[in-house]
Amino acid sequence: MKSAIVVGGGISGLSTTYYLTKAGVPVTLIDPGERLGGVMRTERVQGCVIEAGPDSFISAKPWALDLIRELGLEDEVIGSNDHLRKTYIQRRRQLVPMPDGLQLMVPTRVLPMVTTDLLGWRTKIRMGLELFHRPRESAHGDRSVSQFLCEHYGREAVDYLAEPLLAGVYGGDPDRLSAESVLPRFVELEAKYGSLTKGVLRARGPASKQPLFRTMRDGFGSLAGALERAIEGKATIVRGAVDALERTPVGWRARCRDSWIEAGHAVLACRAYEAGALVSGRLAELLQGIPYNASMTLALGYKRAGFKHPLNGFGFLCPKLERGRVVACTWVGTKFAHRVPDDMVLLRCFLGGGSMGDGDEVIVAAVREELRAIMGVTEEPAFSRIFRWPRSMAQYEVGHGGRIAEIEALLKPLDGLLLAGNAYYGIGVPDCVRMGKQAADRVAARNG
Ligand SMILES: Cc1cc2nc3c(=O)[nH]c(=O)nc-3n(C[C@H](O)[C@H](O)[C@H](O)COP(=O)(O)OP(=O)(O)OC[C@H]3O[C@@H](n4cnc5c(N)ncnc54)[C@H](O)[C@@H]3O)c2cc1C
Repeated sequence: MKSAIVVGGGISGLSTTYYLTKAGVPVTLIDPGERLGGVMRTERVQGCVIEAGPDSFISAKPWALDLIRELGLEDEVIGSNDHLRKTYIQRRRQLVPMPDGLQLMVPTRVLPMVTTDLLGWRTKIRMGLELFHRPRESAHGDRSVSQFLCEHYGREAVDYLAEPLLAGVYGGDPDRLSAESVLPRFVELEAKYGSLTKGVLRARGPASKQPLFRTMRDGFGSLAGALERAIEGKATIVRGAVDALERTPVGWRARCRDSWIEAGHAVLACRAYEAGALVSGRLAELLQGIPYNASMTLALGYKRAGFKHPLNGFGFLCPKLERGRVVACTWVGTKFAHRVPDDMVLLRCFLGGGSMGDGDEVIVAAVREELRAIMGVTEEPAFSRIFRWPRSMAQYEVGHGGRIAEIEALLKPLDGLLLAGNAYYGIGVPDCVRMGKQAADRVAARNG
């Protein structure tokens, strides 16, 4: 049985390692962090569960829940309080509810679209007429998300629906993101039906009974901890950064803290630019060319007594046209039970990385001013916690699919070298688990 090295102990590398140990493959996981989990990290402050990185995963993608079940943690999973679900979009400093029945920005119900204050009449009429789009004769190349969605619903719908929604997920710019890689299902529906609205309505199954989002009651740190415990004793865990990778006659060797670790297979589960630094030539160029955005999260905790805002929804999104520092703000206690004690309020703000160099006090003051203007929050926070994530969110820009196809082709002759991580086939936690499992399955299959 050929062994494996896994470089990177975020959720991608942890999942790879877990599934490799399950398949009986001897594995060494290498990561420099004091704790495993990468951007997945939880702290508890004054009884509040604070997620430094991801805070939930979408239920429609099953791979994270499958893993959680295998670990025996299903009882620790909670769903979003969907009966309270309402997301607001900032428009002219007001919080306007997103119309019901949207799938991303594809309307599936007439009345909420007609009555919404978020969009003007011109856009509403255009969105209605989209139903009559016919499939194109000629095939499209990849387009930006903005271009793709503008063609269907117009610029205002992109600016006030798609842009804020995608910024909240990717921290990215729809003018640069790839429609084929970020919205593959919509691109397929367009090819088949012409109209996205018609496609979504036709493809719609019975209403799902699952919550829209799921998460761990005690935070994602508990998932990282459970994975670490599950692999302990079965995998070797080395704390350090890999700074060189070489091919050997029987596989691969990685250098970490001046020692070489040898194995038959190597899975690079670090960020693409870090993987690129370990390989050479065109492969290195392609990996290092995948852009990453920086982001920050800021948790603000308040005493519930005297907090005036009703927190009647999951939170709000700020469109780029009206954005200061806050990209999105989650009203944690409304979205999830068990995360905030009854006497506290927790606001999770997702910020762009542009002002990462500013000190904590400057950031907190600026965000508090924005929250005052948008939500009317004037109360003094009981605590604040800032987490900075430089170059952590891969951006699937126009042409991403072609780049990944070329990477795959270059990897083929490099027998035993594999990639996993948020830079390739999906950025969310479930996708990272899926890619980790796929890498482990491929190693196990090569071992025969
Ligand atoms: C602020 C934020 C909020 C997010 N929110 C959500 C959310 O709510 N829902 C969701 O589904 N997704 C969310 N995401 C996305 C998702 O969390 C990430 O895509 C995913 O966790 C990335 O996991 P990963 O293992 O691929 O990478 P990472 O977590 O970045 O881990 C990479 C690991 O590689 C290690 N490493 C790097 N270089 C080396 C080296 N040379 N040698 C050894 N190890 C190395 C690093 O130390 C790190 O531990 C969010 C991301 C961020 C940053």
